[in-house]
Amino acid sequence: MDIFDCIIIGGGPAGMNAGVVLGRCRRNVLLFDHGTQRNRRSHGMHNYLTRDDILPSDFIKISHEELHKYGVKVKNKKITNARRNQEGIFQVYDEDGIIYQAKKLLVATGLSDNLPSIKGMDTFYGSSVFHCPYCDGWEVKDKKIGVYARNKEGWELALALKNWSDDVSYFTDGKFRIKPEQKEQLDANNIRVVAHQIASLIGEDQQLKKIHLKNGETVDCDALFFVNGYTQQCDLAETFGCKINRKGVVVTNKFQQTNIPGLYVAGDAAKDMHFVVVAGAEGAKAGVIINKELQQEITDARLKQYIEQQLPV
Ligand SMILES: Cc1cc2nc3c(=O)[nH]c(=O)nc-3n(C[C@H](O)[C@H](O)[C@H](O)COP(=O)(O)OP(=O)(O)OC[C@H]3O[C@@H](n4cnc5c(N)ncnc54)[C@H](O)[C@@H]3O)c2cc1C
Repeated sequence: MDIFDCIIIGGGPAGMNAGVVLGRCRRNVLLFDHGTQRNRRSHGMHNYLTRDDILPSDFIKISHEELHKYGVKVKNKKITNARRNQEGIFQVYDEDGIIYQAKKLLVATGLSDNLPSIKGMDTFYGSSVFHCPYCDGWEVKDKKIGVYARNKEGWELALALKNWSDDVSYFTDGKFRIKPEQKEQLDANNIRVVAHQIASLIGEDQQLKKIHLKNGETVDCDALFFVNGYTQQCDLAETFGCKINRKGVVVTNKFQQTNIPGLYVAGDAAKDMHFVVVAGAEGAKAGVIINKELQQEITDARLKQYIEQQLPV
């Protein structure tokens, strides 16, 4: 069975950028992806120079062309299991039980947002329901903006959104965890707190228009930003014994190395600054360090062989 130099699990910007770097280093690389990139519902990607407003699907199409150009093999399969054998070789199993082997393993499997389970959230997610003002705030500037949060982080997001619009309402959906000093800040910034439970989101053609409350009231709203946490898309790094921090992401050093030798994690799965450009940069860093380690191992093996040949028999 072939032993690849590196297997990459995850074909978002982190995994694909690592693939391009390693491909250009003439490494034998296999990348697995099952097409659930975090921003796949977005109508346009931002904060990435030269690709402003590109559809995530177009970004992936161009990236695949570049991976192909540098000889990286891409398989549209889910990896369900992985382990490291006694020789230190990583063995991964796809959903059909087929096994693949590699000297290094990069996990770039990303996160998924916990969408609040409210009627209409899913319909408008990515078009007028968002979680990140840096990604989508500009597109809804000066509109009626809502913030949804049942946890204590919502008031901060509500204040931040004043950057983009004067008209901000904060929906706590039946909870009221705001401290008096936080409420004072919200009042001072003219942010309305709506504490009633939400019944549904209403709009048409993927454009949110109103938020219908369980008490019968309706509030006009053009865009809703939520804070409701996120989940790792895949638990392979955790099952390998990688350290996880209190935010639920994998701890790595600045080269994306984990506490498990030969195992790297890049992108959203490893950091809490969740941008395409950051994920891509981390993938590139991982690619460089993986290439350097492979190079070192080859150099060491050649030196060992050379010394053995020089020894008198
Ligand atoms: C609605 C929305 C809009 C956004 N807009 C922007 C924006 O405008 N600008 C910006 O910079 N960022 C934006 N983001 C954030 C951005 O999506 C993430 O920061 C970025 O996708 C992280 O890249 P990644 O490679 O780490 O993970 P992802 O892009 O999430 O890719 C991970 C990949 O791993 C695959 N995978 C997971 N488990 C397995 C497995 N077991 N086997 C095989 N494959 C697996 C998944 O299928 C997925 O394709 C947005 C996010 C959302 C939700």
